[in-house]
Amino acid sequence: MKIAFIGLGIMGKPMALNLIKAGHQLRVYDRNAATIAELKAAGATACSCSAETVEGVDLVLTMLPNSPHVKSVMLEDDKLAEKMPKTAAFIDMSSINPVASREIAAELAKYGIDMLDAPVSGGQPKAIDGTLSFMVGGKEEVFNKFKPVLEAMGSSVVLCGDVGAGNVTKLCNQTIVAVNIAALAEAMQMGQMCGVEPQKIFEAIKGGLAGSTVMNAKAPMMMDQNFQPGFRIDLHIKDLNNVVDAAKAVDAPIPLTQQVLEMMKILHHDGDGSCDHSALLKYYQKLTGEVLHH
Ligand code: NAD
Repeated sequence: MKIAFIGLGIMGKPMALNLIKAGHQLRVYDRNAATIAELKAAGATACSCSAETVEGVDLVLTMLPNSPHVKSVMLEDDKLAEKMPKTAAFIDMSSINPVASREIAAELAKYGIDMLDAPVSGGQPKAIDGTLSFMVGGKEEVFNKFKPVLEAMGSSVVLCGDVGAGNVTKLCNQTIVAVNIAALAEAMQMGQMCGVEPQKIFEAIKGGLAGSTVMNAKAPMMMDQNFQPGFRIDLHIKDLNNVVDAAKAVDAPIPLTQQVLEMMKILHHDGDGSCDHSALLKYYQKLTGEVLHH
């Protein structure tokens, strides 16, 4: 399939590489030109603007930071909705506000263009391995047509409902991950302060009910004081702000999300916004003056 791919950051670049490996023809663009070289070397057509990517394609994919970026590319500044072939479809894989997904889909529908929102979970390692989990919103026939494209980047591809349902599901994912990391940091710090080695706490409980993918990935990072992203605190703040907006619209109670969002905002103001979200531990370390060790 001939595919336009816009947004080649931490996630987009390895995802695009997996599409090339699966035999798709890619036309790529990122406003950071440095990221394009590796894809060009792998066989993609490097484009000098987003409008150039959509020439003659069957599908347009975006992997951008947030709603304003996707709106800017599709509707406002680059206006790809006007420029892309009307026979092509649009799949946004960014994690954005579901309200924005529905607005963009409604605008595209005026041109007869179908859209899926298909955010992912799994982070950079799974983007590289091609084992991401996709949560998708949109029409079933459009989903069935493009599922094989998503399967070239992910090992789980689930249709969750109409357009916007993918991003609602992603917000659920982001709440669960944020609260989980905060609970892990809180417990490890408390355990060490009560005199038990953090490594022993991890080893003893990781196989029980408290064990989780979050624990296996983030506890070693916390004990190593390794906060290289991964997934940046600032991006998680973006997601939790989207949770707050979505919850407000339907009056859903989210006290745990609000609490962890406040903790992340404090870290952002302290200059830790570019750290991995496992740096929620720093919130506790700053309060107690004690650093978690092995
Ligand atoms: P990133 O900041 O590394 O990449 C975003 C890319 O978009 C950058 O290379 C940037 O130059 C480019 N960009 C921004 N505006 C542009 C524009 N107008 N035109 C062209 N390019 C533009 O972010 P990322 O970590 O790759 O995340 C992308 C999305 O995936 C986000 O919505 C994020 O929440 C989500 N996500 C990230 C992870 C993760 O672990 N990093 C995991 C799951 C989901």
